[in-house]
Amino acid sequence: MKIAIAGGSIAGLACALTLTCTGHDVHVYERSATPLRGRGGGVVVLRQMLHFLEEHGQRTRAMLAVPTHRRRWIDIDGHVIRDDPELLPFSSWDAVYRSLCSMLSPNAIHYGHHVARVTEDEDGFDIHFDHSSSAVRADVLIVADGTGSWLRSMLFPGSFPSYAGYLAWRGVVSENIFGRNQVADLIENMTLYRSKAELFMTFLIPALDGSLETGTRRFNWLWYRNEPDESSIRMFLTGRDGRRRHASVAPGELSEPSIAYLHRAALERLPRTLSQLVTATNAPFLQAISDALSPSFAKGRVALVGDAACTLRPHTGSGTSKAADDAVSLAQALSTVTTDVVQVLADWAVRRRSAVEPLLLKGPRLAQSFGLGYPSH
Ligand SMILES: Cc1cc2nc3c(=O)[nH]c(=O)nc-3n(C[C@H](O)[C@H](O)[C@H](O)COP(=O)(O)OP(=O)(O)OC[C@H]3O[C@@H](n4cnc5c(N)ncnc54)[C@H](O)[C@@H]3O)c2cc1C
Repeated sequence: MKIAIAGGSIAGLACALTLTCTGHDVHVYERSATPLRGRGGGVVVLRQMLHFLEEHGQRTRAMLAVPTHRRRWIDIDGHVIRDDPELLPFSSWDAVYRSLCSMLSPNAIHYGHHVARVTEDEDGFDIHFDHSSSAVRADVLIVADGTGSWLRSMLFPGSFPSYAGYLAWRGVVSENIFGRNQVADLIENMTLYRSKAELFMTFLIPALDGSLETGTRRFNWLWYRNEPDESSIRMFLTGRDGRRRHASVAPGELSEPSIAYLHRAALERLPRTLSQLVTATNAPFLQAISDALSPSFAKGRVALVGDAACTLRPHTGSGTSKAADDAVSLAQALSTVTTDVVQVLADWAVRRRSAVEPLLLKGPRLAQSFGLGYPSH
C-alpha cells in the first residue's frame, strides 16, 4: 500500500521504518524545513522496536545508551536518603531520532511539508500541503503530529489536549564543564530530589553526536513544578521573540525573564549539586504537561500513533517506547492486510487502546504521589 505519514518526529519515523520493513511504500511529511535537532533530552532505549528491526535485517547499533547503575534520592543538603539499583539505560532523543533517520531512505522523508488539508474518498486520500497546490495520493494516512495534533481535532472535533497543572523545565548540559568532584555523585546514576509540588531528576545521556566517551556525555535534567497561575504560565510560554507558544518553548527560545526566574528558583530551592546543572545550562527549555487522548486510535483508513493518539505523562518514561510499540504493532497488523484495511485498523485501534490503558492511568497516579498536577476528581 501507499502510506502517508503526517509528522516526522519519533512516532512518524518509527512507523515509516516498520511499515517499510513489511513492504509498504511509505512517505513521511514533516512541516519542519530541516531535520529536527536537539529537541529533547533522555529517552529509554526502544527494546521491542530494536528486536523487530533486527528480525527484519536492520542494523541498529546507533541507538546507544549510557548505563545507569543507581537511582538515588537526595535531600536539600545533597545527602543520599534512598539508594536503589537502577538498570534502565538512557539514550538521548537525538540518538534515537538520528538512528531512525539513518535507517530510512532519504527520499522517504519530505521536510517543509505542512499537511494543511486532507480529502478522503472510498479508496484513499489526497493530502494537501500549505506550500503547494499539488496533492499526494495515499491508501492509508498515519497521523503522527504530536500532542496538539491538528489532524486529531479535525477527525474528532472537540478533542484537544488539557493542561495537567504543572510545567517541566528542562535542560541538557555537558559533563565536561564541571570539575570531576562537582558531579562525581551524578555520573551514571539517576539522581532525584523532591519537595512540595516539585520533582527534579537528572541522568547522563550520550553526546549530541552519539558519543559515549567520558567527558563528551551530557546531563539531562527535568524539573517538574506545579504552576496553576494563568498569568505565570502565559509569561513562561511567551518566547524571547514575544510570541506566545501553545505548550512548549524550545531550547534557545525562553525569554530572559523566564531564564532569570528559573535560575533564581534553582538557587533558592534545589540542592547545590543540582542547581549548578540548571544555572550552567545554555539553552534550557520548557514544556507544559498535558493530557491528550483520542476518542479512537483509528477512523476509516486513518491510524493515530504516538502523542497524537495519546499523550502519556512523562513520569511513566514511556512516551517514546509507546510510539515505537505503536509502530511495531501497526506494521504487524498491516502486514496481513487483504482487502479490508478499515477493519484491520479498527481492530488494531481497540488492541492498542487496551494495551496503553494501564500507562494512561499510571501517569496521573505517579504525578499525584509527587504532589504534581491538579488533583483528580
Ligand atoms: C517533559 C517531557 C519529558 C519526556 N520524557 C520522556 C522520556 O524520558 N522518555 C520517553 O520515552 N518519552 C518522553 N517524553 C515523550 C516523548 O517525547 C514523546 O512521547 C515521543 O517523542 C513521541 O512523540 P511524537 O513523535 O508522537 O510527537 P512529536 O515529537 O510532538 O512530533 C510531532 C511532529 O509532527 C510535526 N507536525 C505537526 N503538525 C504537522 C503537520 N500539520 N504537518 C506535518 N508535520 C506536522 C511536528 O513538527 C513534529 O515534528 C517526554 C515528554 C515530555 C513532555
